[in-house]
Amino acid sequence: MNTVFWFRRDLRLFNNLALYQAIENGCKDAIFFITEQQWQRHDVAPIQIDLLKRRLDYLGQLLADNGITLHIIDGGDYHGCVQQLTAFCKQHAVSNIYANKEYEINEVERDQAFLKDADEVGISLRLFDGDVIAPPGTVLNQSGEMFKVFTPFKNAWLKQYQDTHFYFQPLPAMFSPITWQGCALLSTDNTSHKWPVDDESLSQVCNRFIHDKLLSYKDQRDIPSIKGTSGLSPYLALGVVSVHQLIALVQQQHIDVLSSSKSNVFTWVNELVWREFYRHLIVAYPKLNKYQNFNEKYDPVQWRSDDADFTAWCQGKTGYPLVDAAMRQLLQTGWMHNRLRMVVASFLTKHLLIDWRKGERFFMQHLIDGDLASNNGGWQWAASTGCDAQPYFRIFNPITQSERFDPEGEFIRKYIPELTSVPNKHIHFPHAYLALQGSEKNKYWPAIVDHKAARQRALDAFKV
Ligand SMILES: Cc1cc2nc3c(=O)[nH]c(=O)nc-3n(C[C@H](O)[C@H](O)[C@H](O)COP(=O)(O)OP(=O)(O)OC[C@H]3O[C@@H](n4cnc5c(N)ncnc54)[C@H](O)[C@@H]3O)c2cc1C
Repeated sequence: MNTVFWFRRDLRLFNNLALYQAIENGCKDAIFFITEQQWQRHDVAPIQIDLLKRRLDYLGQLLADNGITLHIIDGGDYHGCVQQLTAFCKQHAVSNIYANKEYEINEVERDQAFLKDADEVGISLRLFDGDVIAPPGTVLNQSGEMFKVFTPFKNAWLKQYQDTHFYFQPLPAMFSPITWQGCALLSTDNTSHKWPVDDESLSQVCNRFIHDKLLSYKDQRDIPSIKGTSGLSPYLALGVVSVHQLIALVQQQHIDVLSSSKSNVFTWVNELVWREFYRHLIVAYPKLNKYQNFNEKYDPVQWRSDDADFTAWCQGKTGYPLVDAAMRQLLQTGWMHNRLRMVVASFLTKHLLIDWRKGERFFMQHLIDGDLASNNGGWQWAASTGCDAQPYFRIFNPITQSERFDPEGEFIRKYIPELTSVPNKHIHFPHAYLALQGSEKNKYWPAIVDHKAARQRALDAFKV
């Protein structure tokens, strides 16, 4: 009887314990399902599918070099995937499947559906927690429940892991040609080529960040014109790199990082714990997978359905330069800086009073790092409906955010060429200056809302 490894969002060889165990058990076949209908239902961005395909091509070669065949099978959706997997197991006399857990509700239901029949025919599915350090459900408060606030979650997480030294699990390194041609989500307009997919380049990206940028991360992480963050989110989202691997790398330089949570270096690890927090939340509160508010108190908020305002936000034409530059960064590159995600999410949900679910969806459709748990967490944080969220009365002023985090307008000018010649002191809200220059020079969009009035409208709506 044969063993198979089932790749999902864990597209790596290194630090992939489940794969390692499968290989120990004689695995010669690996499997990946293209589930285009499901991806469409989940709003997976075409640029992320492109990255996924490129990474699978690369993995396929590596695995083949090591005697493992990667079978890429068209499953359609998760229902089809379960049927195809069952057929594959019959055809290849498979009795053991190894895989890493996915925590989202449809993925859990897919696994349960497979297990229902698999058990009867003697096929086992062994699932590992390869996407997180702490498996969901293992960091709990004294009543045995999930924390509802990040800081005590982080402290409990640290208590469990501060003495752990993470290490690399090097592995042998697969391919059978399969056609992606039918996959409509792939198109040349959405190429992810700027993001390398080979392990050597990725190792350089990780090492460079940890050696050169980690210490300045705390000071530079909020400045979008500087490359002060790791840029690793697309790889974490697809499991191309693992949190274990990243923390192991940090520990090589800063051995006591997990016991010095006030240090500069920990600031970055703290973000990895946020990622983990949001993963634990979607498991503890399955409603988060179903587009529901974490905090039901805000269910009565009357969101506006204004298509023109929503379109202006999507296209980067709100007349607020930092918001517009950020949205254009997303449209042009498939990625957006974290500070800007907070600013644009706040602008949509507070200034425009448009439902966070619309923004969440738009992000998923365009982000190369789209990830249900982190995206939902980020959106509900900004909309104040989330767990440990921004209080509703703290509303980002997009002009002051711009003055603080892009003081010279460097980031704005990069994405809004219309504003290239506007002096620094006017760049954050250039309308009065542009009006003085005459209409010829004013090619920029008028502001779609007045900050003060919009703020008051949001306060009133949330008070209700
Ligand atoms: C409205 C909104 C939507 C978001 N949607 C996503 C999403 O779909 N996918 C996604 O990976 N992140 C999302 N984030 C979190 C964050 O913006 C990105 O993870 C970060 O910008 C990625 O850049 P980086 O890899 O350079 O991050 P770094 O600053 O280098 O952080 C390292 C890693 O930590 C994790 N991380 C960092 N910040 C957060 C955070 N606030 N919440 C959870 N994990 C975090 C990411 O995996 C990131 O790669 C969202 C944030 C907001 C406010």
